[in-house]
Parts: sequence; C-alpha cells; structure tokens
Amino acid sequence: MHFVRVKSILSAGNGMNLYRGCSHGCIYCDSRSSCYRMDHDFEDIEVKENAIVLLENELRKKRSKCMLGTGSMTDPYIPAEEEIRSVRKALELADRYGFGFTLITKSASVLRDLDLLRSINEKTKCVVQMTLTTYDEDLCRKIEPGVSTTKERADALRQLHEAGIPTVVWLCPILPFINDTEENIRGILDYCIEAKVCGVICFGMGLTLRGGNREYFYRQLDRHFPGMKEKYIQRFGSRYQIASPENEKLMKLFHQICEENGIVHDNDRIFEYLRTFERKTQTTGNPDENGEKPDRKRLIQTTLSGRSASERAWCRYTDKKSVFGKNKFTGGLVDIFFLDLW
Ligand code: SF4
Repeated sequence: MHFVRVKSILSAGNGMNLYRGCSHGCIYCDSRSSCYRMDHDFEDIEVKENAIVLLENELRKKRSKCMLGTGSMTDPYIPAEEEIRSVRKALELADRYGFGFTLITKSASVLRDLDLLRSINEKTKCVVQMTLTTYDEDLCRKIEPGVSTTKERADALRQLHEAGIPTVVWLCPILPFINDTEENIRGILDYCIEAKVCGVICFGMGLTLRGGNREYFYRQLDRHFPGMKEKYIQRFGSRYQIASPENEKLMKLFHQICEENGIVHDNDRIFEYLRTFERKTQTTGNPDENGEKPDRKRLIQTTLSGRSASERAWCRYTDKKSVFGKNKFTGGLVDIFFLDLW
C-alpha cells in the first residue's frame, strides 16, 4: 500500500476512485490492463490520502445534488478499507450533504456500512451493486480467490434488501468452457430471485481480454485449469471480446428468467435508474401489501411497467446487439462499464 495526493476526486460523472489497485485477485480482472497505465503493482494499493478532504470541498461547491459512485479500478471493500476507511468517510459525507450514492463490490463487508447506506437511502437513493459470476463455491474460490463467496454475497444482497436498500447484480464475466452453463446461470439467478434484487445487468456471456489482464488470466488458467489456455488461444486467438459459444442460448434463458420473476433486465434502464438522483418525501422502507420494498417497486415501475411487449422485445434486441455492436461486452469488465457509467 502506498499513499498519493491528488488534485481532484470527482469525475465529470460524479464517480470517484478512492483507491487504485486491488488485492482480491480475480483471474479475469480488466483493471489490470496496461491501458490504465498503473505505475505500480496492481496489488500495491494506491491510497488517495487527500480524497476525503477534496470530496468534502467538491460536495460543498455543488449547486445541485446528484448520485455519487465508486467501485472502478478497485473493489471499495478491499482489506485496506478496514484500516483506511475512505469508503465509509465518503458515505458519511454523502449522508451529511444529502447526496445519493451507489457502489459496486464483490464483498459482503459492505454490510459494515449498512447504517449509512440506510440513512442515505431514507433521504435520497442508495444502491448497492454486486457482481456474481458463478454459483459454484469451489469454482468461485479459484476464479475470485479474495472476495466473499457467491453464497456470502447473495446473503449480503438479501440483508440489504431487508434493510430497504435496492440492489443490482452484474452477471459477468462468464468464462467460456468454465462457467458458461445453463446450471450456472440458473443458480445465480436463483440467488437474485431469493434476494429480491431490483435488476440484473448483463451484456452477454463472455469476457474481454487485452494486454495486462490477458497474461495474468492465462497464468491462472495454467494453474487452475490445465490445457484451457491452449483451448482459448486456439479458439479466440488474440481477440478482445471472447464470446461464449453458448451466448445466444444463455442470454435467452437470462432474459426469460428475469422476465418471469419481475427482475429488470434492460441495461439502459438500470443505468438510468442508477444515475438519477431523487429526493424522498416519504422515508418509510416498509414493504407494501405484496411484500415489495419501495425502491425495488420504484425501479420495476419505472422500467418494465407500462412498456409494451414490443418495447421489451426491442430492449432485449438492443441488449443483444450491444454485445457485438457497441463494444460493451460482459467481460470481467465491471470496471469498464462503471467507468462508462460514471
Ligand atoms: S475484478 Fe474487481 S474485485 Fe476482482 S480483482 Fe479486479 S477490481 Fe478487484
């Protein structure tokens, strides 16, 4: 871990990276890619030591409230956060100054900050996004060795829902010949249904590989899945977008299960929801007569309800198109998407 001083903390889209680098060791991590020009080892966490002072100054100056976000280039709940507590301090500021917040993590440690998440959500909106890639706990330990297991993450999602915090899941990346199975997609979505997540973001079944993360990924394939690297090289060469041969079938299944269970699965609508600041007049997080929490209901209402079957079909079509047409591929690239988002 090392400390740096920075000149500003909020991006144009009000996102912030409180840390750079991550010690969670996910084998497919895109944040390792050389294009991000990290001038230190990825595991050597860069801590922006003046981030909180800058954030407070920037929030004070803002003319209007907005959603703030964090979670790219690192997981906010890396072990260093236990000691540094920048994420908690940023949440405290959001709460004090009346800003909304969303963060993306793979750690159940987010529950440490449940009091603040709840407090923000009572006044404005606070959304926790969590990535799920495999429902198989053993496989999870191989491909995401440092994060909470999928079961632990699903349990955290359930607890967040019970506390009235809306949740969104990123279903990615899906690694060809490793977790691109019907059983896996059903298993993950079962967790989502159980935890009553509001929406699931999925750009397609696959991952992306480029300089920096490709080499690390291949090394980990050699370690955990002997022979798999050669299969990838033979099948995909040096492609950036690595699509699962099962993509079409699994995407159909994904949309179908989400639709049947009232989970929003239109990526654009979910992003719109995540970006939109709202002020709450009513502060109750109590469920309605059908057991629906207000935030989940709000997202579902503003996305699916009132839209015709053809509109929904169009959304599904554009989702599918985006996989191959817009360079927004599922890949392990939560971070990429998060950068796009913020
Ligand atoms: S994918 Fe996220 S949690 Fe995993 S190593 Fe990369 S930044 Fe960390």
